Amino acid sequence: MADREFLFPKKYKCPICEKEFENLTVKSNRARLIGTDVDLRPRYDQLDVLKYDVVCCPHCGYGALTRYFDTPTDSQKKKIKQMVWKKVTPLKTPESGELSYEEAAERHKLALLNQMVKTGDGPEKKSEKAYICLKLGWIQRGWWQSAEGKIDQAELDKIKIAETRYLKNAYELFLEARGTESFPMCGLDEVTVDYLIAALAIRYDQIEVAKRMVSGILGSFSASSRIKDKARELLESAKK
Ligand SMILES: [Zn+2]
Repeated sequence: MADREFLFPKKYKCPICEKEFENLTVKSNRARLIGTDVDLRPRYDQLDVLKYDVVCCPHCGYGALTRYFDTPTDSQKKKIKQMVWKKVTPLKTPESGELSYEEAAERHKLALLNQMVKTGDGPEKKSEKAYICLKLGWIQRGWWQSAEGKIDQAELDKIKIAETRYLKNAYELFLEARGTESFPMCGLDEVTVDYLIAALAIRYDQIEVAKRMVSGILGSFSASSRIKDKARELLESAKK
């Protein structure tokens, strides 16, 4: 089945230019979760829900993760108006009524640009930037997995390199955010963020960081036995 069978056009009002528009949204309860990767990337039956988590205004170029779309403060709005409006090309909903991985990546990059404009270099909301990078990394993974055997190796490698780069950014930013922000972060509780950092740390050979995160999870009263088992397995797999 095509993605569009699972989507509907949801109405939004842009907090920057105040115009109304529709954005492709996954119908609730239609997508079935079939599993998660080791770094918690969710995998769904039939469509990749991750592609549809950015709302982009087709009029002014504002874009953000769905959960942050309505939340810029007045001073952030001002910055976005100065730096984004009439300076970036707004992204419109494609005529196909669904998003390719390339289009989904473009939308996430626009969300990242807007996020950087609104917060600058400050410590504010590193987690939001981390979360967008994480999702960008996951989208690249979905992209190369669905493209394997269909595009040439050089193209595939480019997508894999982008995955590695975005996840590295996510790893570093989550680690920073963990020391400066409070939980929940982007809807993730402390145990989940620590597990995520541990999984990414292993990917980048930062075993000491992974060990520290895992021992925190194992000693935590709020961690479920399921996540404790997962964290133990993570460290075991790293030792091999
Ligand atoms: Zn707008």
